[in-house]
Amino acid sequence: MTNPILSDWTTPFEIAPFTAISDGDFAPALDEAMAAHNAQIDAIADNPDVPSFANTIEALEAAGEQLDRVLSVFFTVAGADSNPKREELQREFSPKLSAHFSGISSNKDLFRRVADLWHRRDDLDLSDEQARVLMLTHRGFVRAGAALEGEADARMQEVKSRLASLGTSFTQNLLADERDWFMELAEEDLDGLPDFVIAAARAAGEEKGANGPVVTLSRSLIVPFLQFSSRRDLREKAYRAWAARGANGNETDNREIAAEILTLREERAKLLGYDSFAEFKLETEMARSPDRVRDLLMQVWEPAKARADADADILTAMMQEDGVNGPLEAWDWRYYAEKRRKAEHDLDEAALKPYLQLDRMIEASFACANRLFGLEFASLDAPLYHPDCRAWEVTRNGKHVAVFIGDYFARGSKRSGAWCSAMRAQAKFPEEQTPVVINVCNFAKGDPALLSYDDARTLFHEFGHALHQMLSNVTYESISGTSVARDFVELPSQLYEHWLEVPEVLAEYATHAETGEPMPQAMLEKVLKAANFDQGFQTVEYVASALVDLAFHEGSAPADPMSKQAEVLAEIGMPNAIGMRHATPHFAHVFAGDGYSAGYYSYMWSEVMDADAFAAFEEAGGAFDPERAKALEENILSTGGSREAEDLYLAFRGRLPGVEALLKGRGLIAA
Ligand SMILES: [Zn+2]
Repeated sequence: MTNPILSDWTTPFEIAPFTAISDGDFAPALDEAMAAHNAQIDAIADNPDVPSFANTIEALEAAGEQLDRVLSVFFTVAGADSNPKREELQREFSPKLSAHFSGISSNKDLFRRVADLWHRRDDLDLSDEQARVLMLTHRGFVRAGAALEGEADARMQEVKSRLASLGTSFTQNLLADERDWFMELAEEDLDGLPDFVIAAARAAGEEKGANGPVVTLSRSLIVPFLQFSSRRDLREKAYRAWAARGANGNETDNREIAAEILTLREERAKLLGYDSFAEFKLETEMARSPDRVRDLLMQVWEPAKARADADADILTAMMQEDGVNGPLEAWDWRYYAEKRRKAEHDLDEAALKPYLQLDRMIEASFACANRLFGLEFASLDAPLYHPDCRAWEVTRNGKHVAVFIGDYFARGSKRSGAWCSAMRAQAKFPEEQTPVVINVCNFAKGDPALLSYDDARTLFHEFGHALHQMLSNVTYESISGTSVARDFVELPSQLYEHWLEVPEVLAEYATHAETGEPMPQAMLEKVLKAANFDQGFQTVEYVASALVDLAFHEGSAPADPMSKQAEVLAEIGMPNAIGMRHATPHFAHVFAGDGYSAGYYSYMWSEVMDADAFAAFEEAGGAFDPERAKALEENILSTGGSREAEDLYLAFRGRLPGVEALLKGRGLIAA
């Protein structure tokens, strides 16, 4: 039997042979690969020899190579080019895979070998990287509960499975509330709405089977409605419905679910020997402790609140000029902020677009990587999964570094958003393996394809993640590339966005699609300034949510999360006219799963670092300072998870990050 996924790949640089693979190949390949992986795991766990780094940790690193292949091919096409068959496969694979991996992490024989090595670690004569991989492997098992015995072990399984089902209910309730509510708009209710919002409202109306345009609770529709609708009564009605998601007192109410989740998380942390869930969660992060997270958030909070308070006064005055008395409310902020934005720095998106051609922006992202790291990009002909995909061979001094694939255009078969993944991660063990890295975006197709400024930023962002993969230079795959702490992983990507803002980059690559003229200076300045607009509001709504998330997971779980939330907001003096970006009953980041629980802060943490890291270039004499570029590659882009994030940052910067550059960048303190 020759399943093309499991056979040798004879394509250039052994890129997955997409055109030879059919959907019917996935299920048998997955079954075969999981069985092979299980056999490898059993052989390691049952090995009669005394555990050694080679026969246990390295054997684990080398195991599952077939499974990696199947999953990298499958998840690439399932995310970027799905179809009903692939969706069905995904539903079928997802429980199988979670059972497969949790079977490994709860394998007691395997854990005993790892734990034995861990206790003898000082006598094993390991390299720094080996010691790190041993520590991470051991810690991963312990955190999954592998060290628990008897009753504690059984209770842990119960807690985990209850948490999983509560997370699912939370998500489903939220979806139901978002799906069920809509507000019909008569012609006279459309006042103030630009064409694109009216079109979106009409499309939503058709979808709901209404007789005309409607507002729904989808962020992409309600936010522009709140921004543009001159009807204060309708803004209030829509805002109240939006803020009440998950808290309507009916069968989709999420408040009790949130309380139970917090209680079970605390129990889970305590079963594992931690004082609180925040302590458990932050152990693997750069921040490490709740106090350090709070410190950072509060350093940002104070100036952000001061700016928001000052902005609120300006917006209130505008509202009074409109003849509306009383305080500025949460349903007024976006509306008056939009009026102010138009008056202060109107940026004509339509005039800007021709200057941001996709191909020129790709060139710009490559050119920056060339100046900074000496990388060169040459078009590569390879059979990929969709005709819109493009590939490049990445080299340095004539030596192969990686393959980079770009899949830039939106289509119905692609999920929304933008992402970067390694179809093959860099490693040197068990043999040299060069990365194959893909960026997937959702830009509108066109001839030529033109981007918005946000799109261009997304392109640089994802390319920053790609560099983290492509420049990786470690031995073991489990710590390669972006396998780093969650609050560190966005550093390379957010940092790379700064090069788009370098005036000489825009001047060279933002050229008009028809005339070839560079972007006029006045427009360039407007673009850069507009990025800072309304940052008091945006910072306040975000930081408030992050502080509530943190408070929920520190110490004992609150019996009533809603009153805990109110308490936190009162303590920090939350401005009246700003709501939390995500209030508890619809805070999916925190309650739909574990991903961002006690971790919502990490966006801000990374942003503090990227601003501080880019400032290092500016201090050293410019965005392309070669010494800084070298330090960035040596200490951050090539090192993966081989050392603690804090040590990596210290090695690059010579000190820990400070918030000043972020506050300046967001315009919250004077530059
Ligand atoms: Zn990212």
